[in-house]
Amino acid sequence: MGTTIFAEMSALAVATGSVNLGQGFPDTDGPHEIARAADDAILGGRGNQYPPGPGIPELRQAIARHQRRWYGLDFDPDTEVLVTAGATEAVAAALLALVEPGDEVIAFEPYYDSYAACIAMAGGVRVPVTLRPPAFRPDLDALRAAVTPRTRLILLNSPHNPTGSVFTRAELTAIAELACERDLLVVADEVYEHMVYTGEHVPAGSLPGMRERTVSVSSAGKTFSFTGWKIGWVTASAELVAAVRAVKQFLTFVSGGPFQYAIAEALQMPDAYFTGISADLRGKRDLLCAGLSQAGFVVYPPDGTYFVTTDISQFGGADGVEFCRNLPHQAGVVEIPNAVFYDDPDAGRTQVRFAFCKRPEVLQDALARMEKLQC
Ligand code: PMP
Ligand code: GLN
Repeated sequence: MGTTIFAEMSALAVATGSVNLGQGFPDTDGPHEIARAADDAILGGRGNQYPPGPGIPELRQAIARHQRRWYGLDFDPDTEVLVTAGATEAVAAALLALVEPGDEVIAFEPYYDSYAACIAMAGGVRVPVTLRPPAFRPDLDALRAAVTPRTRLILLNSPHNPTGSVFTRAELTAIAELACERDLLVVADEVYEHMVYTGEHVPAGSLPGMRERTVSVSSAGKTFSFTGWKIGWVTASAELVAAVRAVKQFLTFVSGGPFQYAIAEALQMPDAYFTGISADLRGKRDLLCAGLSQAGFVVYPPDGTYFVTTDISQFGGADGVEFCRNLPHQAGVVEIPNAVFYDDPDAGRTQVRFAFCKRPEVLQDALARMEKLQC
């Protein structure tokens, strides 16, 4: 296994002096008062030594309040909430806890790169169900057909990285019904929960029959623009949280003590902060999508996340990986080839993903650099 595509492309951006629209991290930090809260915690001696294994009580309480405020869901902060080292550790610990060797795990491809690695580390068998352009809707018949007696779990991600698809309530209800009928667990990666432009974010765990079978995962990295802090969390039934916690204690044990205090405050910010995230990103999405279409890309405008998937076939070459390796040298812009997120690389060969969590002038600079691309 080599380096991740994100590390590879960010290194290429630095080496070539390119505008980096590859790896998904914002180019402006989150709220100043939250950075100040982390500073205060460090200097005030809070969290500088190992925090409690499940996370500090203040953060677990704030996560529980967030789930109630936004979704009307009740979780006991002591037994049904677990703080993790980012969503990455939450997904890893959940899969390692719940998947036995030989179990099948269904995931919609293209999928976030750590999923394949974690399913493999758990000894599971990855069963992809493909989301196809232009709309990248989940094919519910294909999903049903993918379930076998060996299926243990469906790994969901909505809003979906890299396509920007936001699963509708009807789609998620159908998935939930299938999970209940076939007695499957669901791990729902909801890190982009506050980045939705069309439709609504429906937590999988809120649907009938799902409370007891869903491990929900989210992360402060996305919602508060502090991706380097790596504060994530799980909400689930006490039984599922106990299973995930048992694994988590041997992955990182604990992490990010002072940052946990800061994120506990962040989660209590007024509603306007959370609704403002999508309002800000919507304008950036529209700017980048319009410019990319103008430059000759086929653009699949996302309903959520801060990524847009495009198709590069009209630029002659039909290989997104090659296109992404060349573009930094040709135009000084870095992006990510979606092919690496598919088991079936043909399904995503011509797709390329751009991140728009950047300042408007940076997006404009990238677009200006791509004006000279030849269709
Ligand atoms: N899941 C998805 C779908 C992601 O895009 C990301 C990356 N940002 C993660 C999980 C990882 O989140 P974190 O940085 O909190 O580990
Ligand atoms: N989630 C981010 C993305 O999709 C990257 C995270 C990482 O570099 N592992 O771009």
